[in-house]
Amino acid sequence: MDKYAQKVLDEVKAKNANEPEFIQAVDEVLSTLGPVLKANPQYEKNAILERMVEPERVIIFRVPWVDDKGIVRVNRGYRIQMNSAIGPYKGGLRFDPTVNLGVLKFLAFEQVFKNSLTTLPMGGGKGGSDFNPKVSPHTPGKRCSDAEVMRFCQSFMTELYRHIGPDTDVPAGDMNVGGREIGYLFGQYKRLANEWTGVLTGKGLSYGGSLVRPEATGYGDVYFAQNMLAKRGETLEGMKCAISGSGNVASFAAEKLMQLGAKVLTLSDRSGAILAPEGITPKMLADIMELKNVRRGELAEFAKKTKAVKFFAKANSWRLADKIDAAFPCARQNELDGKDAEYLLKHGCRLVAEGANMPSTPDAIAAFVKAKIMYSPGKASNAGGVATSGLEMSQNSGRLSWSREEVDSKLKGIMQSIHDNAWEAAAKYGAKGNYVAGANIAGFVKVADAMVAQGVC
Ligand code: NDP
Repeated sequence: MDKYAQKVLDEVKAKNANEPEFIQAVDEVLSTLGPVLKANPQYEKNAILERMVEPERVIIFRVPWVDDKGIVRVNRGYRIQMNSAIGPYKGGLRFDPTVNLGVLKFLAFEQVFKNSLTTLPMGGGKGGSDFNPKVSPHTPGKRCSDAEVMRFCQSFMTELYRHIGPDTDVPAGDMNVGGREIGYLFGQYKRLANEWTGVLTGKGLSYGGSLVRPEATGYGDVYFAQNMLAKRGETLEGMKCAISGSGNVASFAAEKLMQLGAKVLTLSDRSGAILAPEGITPKMLADIMELKNVRRGELAEFAKKTKAVKFFAKANSWRLADKIDAAFPCARQNELDGKDAEYLLKHGCRLVAEGANMPSTPDAIAAFVKAKIMYSPGKASNAGGVATSGLEMSQNSGRLSWSREEVDSKLKGIMQSIHDNAWEAAAKYGAKGNYVAGANIAGFVKVADAMVAQGVC
């Protein structure tokens, strides 16, 4: 690793020893920046790395709410405003019991580079809470009711609203924050701020949402894979694909893969993974989406009723099929480890396009890079979601509503330019074909140059 980058990484480790995910994300980026730091001594002179690893602002707050039994519950809310050099902070909200400061700082750090890669003017942020909408606090085996989720969201926004705004910080969804939650959050913001602005993205179509935003991360991930394949003169047609997760990103990645003639073999959730040896059909996917989004159930339930799939309790998606051409990790961080990578490579995998944030562990990434397969890190291949959020912001400020075709074609164009920028940056700095280095360098340079231009702030 470059000497300057190593010094900053050592400081990050010393200062944030109890934030392993944040350290992992910083390590992954800093370890690829050597050539660009050497060629641009002004970055060290201006302490760009030291400033990039320190959030501009961290907001931590109490979220008190009343459950359906009248009992007062208290969760912790966060917003990390990481970097605003190139635009208002932008990044999702995650509601999950695994949420803590280190997880959100890793996500906010990744978001800075991802947003820069989209070519749109968006800074990086992330937020959320340790609130778990999937577990009722009073009735074992049940989820929080809609009314409980609404009261939680209203209380969360009652504090958050004073820190965000359409030109300051524009949150969106992430794990367990979908259309329902964004609606409740938006309603409360509007009430408190007494203004209707595009302060959140991922909104419903009837109140300022953009067509294709729900599909954008999964579709964008697949468009990125198409671009990687096109470089080698190949297409997705007939490829056997393993996908993890069955939430927003996974289900729309599956939909797009099927539309493009690929075969989707696996999906997963916290209950386990399903394998469909003949491929998941559009009808099966529609049933899964209804189960997950409307009835809020588990894949275990789906597998009981469908003979065409096998269910593997508590398993992940990676070691189920005998032949896998491509993998799309779309669930959560560190869900694909070195052993999974070894299995995938042994069983024919030649493309990995990350839909989730940091789903591959460092040893898995090292194995993919060493094998020289087409491997794209989440910050490049899952940037379609935030890019389409950027398009939603543009439509809101212009009081416009673009057609599905228009948004989809802009999304395709953005994914192609992210791909090409990452490809070219890697080639320019001596790492041809390495999308990890390319994405980090291309994302970094734009933010670093803006920070140098804006002086020490
Ligand atoms: P969802 O909550 O819609 O889906 C997450 C999926 O991952 C669910 O199927 C969930 O299972 C599964 N999952 C979560 N934790 C675990 C676990 N511990 N073990 C097994 N499975 C698990 O989230 P999204 O689809 O929105 O997000 C998925 C990933 O993509 C995240 O890393 C997110 O940060 C990233 N991302 C999302 C974007 C977006 O636009 N939504 C944009 C860019 C990145 P279950 O249903 O059982 O909870």
